[in-house]
Amino acid sequence: MDLNFKDKKTLVRVDFNVPLDASYKITDDTRIRAALPTIKHILKSGGAVILMSHLGRPQKKLKEDGSINVEKFTLQHVVKHLGKLLRKKVKFCPETVGKEATKMAKELQAGEVLILENTRFQKEESAGDEAFAKKLSRLAQLYVNDAFGTAHRAHASTTTVATFFKANAKCFGFLMQKEIENAEKVINNPKRPLTAIIGGAKVSDKILLLEKLIDFADNLLIGGGMAYTFLKAQGGSIGNSLVEEDKLKLANRLLAKAAKKGVKIYLPKDSMAADKFDAKAKKATKYSKRIPKGWMGLDIGEKAQKEFAEVIQKSSTILWNGPMGVFEMKPFAKGTMAVAKAVAKATSKGAFSLVGGGDSVAAVNQMGLADKVSYVSTGGGAMLEFLEGKELPGIAAMH
Ligand code: AMP
Repeated sequence: MDLNFKDKKTLVRVDFNVPLDASYKITDDTRIRAALPTIKHILKSGGAVILMSHLGRPQKKLKEDGSINVEKFTLQHVVKHLGKLLRKKVKFCPETVGKEATKMAKELQAGEVLILENTRFQKEESAGDEAFAKKLSRLAQLYVNDAFGTAHRAHASTTTVATFFKANAKCFGFLMQKEIENAEKVINNPKRPLTAIIGGAKVSDKILLLEKLIDFADNLLIGGGMAYTFLKAQGGSIGNSLVEEDKLKLANRLLAKAAKKGVKIYLPKDSMAADKFDAKAKKATKYSKRIPKGWMGLDIGEKAQKEFAEVIQKSSTILWNGPMGVFEMKPFAKGTMAVAKAVAKATSKGAFSLVGGGDSVAAVNQMGLADKVSYVSTGGGAMLEFLEGKELPGIAAMH
């Protein structure tokens, strides 16, 4: 954020894709708050801010007559709330580019904030269209990207637009800088031992991450639904637990690769099993490789919790992505809770911990432990791709 913003207009890509209730009230404003430091900094430096963001997927949810559902997806829904947070009036432009946007941008004064209409109202956004991006770029002299959550998409407002600004006229915002710095602490020369905790539903969603982790982690703790594919690949009986039959070979290959590289993989020794996928199901602790027919593992068991916690305690760097069980149902949240507590404890003793990716973020928030870990990422898919070692288009375009 070392550009000179004074008396200039800055186009800022933020992620205001917030959840809304049926009457379009914001139910969680975390993403808006996360962008405040960048917006305030530019205003304090004597600049004017032109914000752009997407909200939902308006192109995928067109009205019956094929038109955009403006009422549902308009960014107008965030204007008042942002004004409250900034303690100033925020202007709204009912189009993303065009005559009115050009006029409003031109008339914007230092210290003022303007929000453009949802970037995804334009088909050109997701296509990364150059002509559309060029029109956006003409609204301002400087460009700041603070939308880490969409940095893995080569869209017009996240990537293409940056190519129309010279290197000394564009930079990352504070949030984006923080996300990159923290992810790099895990990827580049991490303090060892480095333990990755991977959970969630499916192996297939995380193949690339697992491959990459086997290249650079010391320990890999695998929980959640995906663990049962590994357990079955090792010859275990897993009953009705979640399994991806077409990934059994891959699981074996990953296990062999880890063994060869000296990476220790820990699978849950025991599971909290249930006779159906229901909070009110009959429950019992079972060895994960001996789950009876008709039963399914829905959480890691107490032995596994203890073993995972011990590994976590001995780690200097911890990466966590994905819950250990069906944590949305209270009886199956204990494993995720135990891991969250262990990560918090290790952090209090000096370990660096990064929680990244949708549901594990929801889990630490739900358990009130978000401020007890070193960093909670705001970018689910983007963080995963960054950790997989891919260069994100939104980052590449800033070079
Ligand atoms: P992901 O989005 O891949 O991180 O997966 C998160 C989802 O995985 C959550 O909705 C969990 O309920 C689900 N999940 C975690 N453990 C299990 C399990 N043992 N069986 C079925 N689903 C699970």
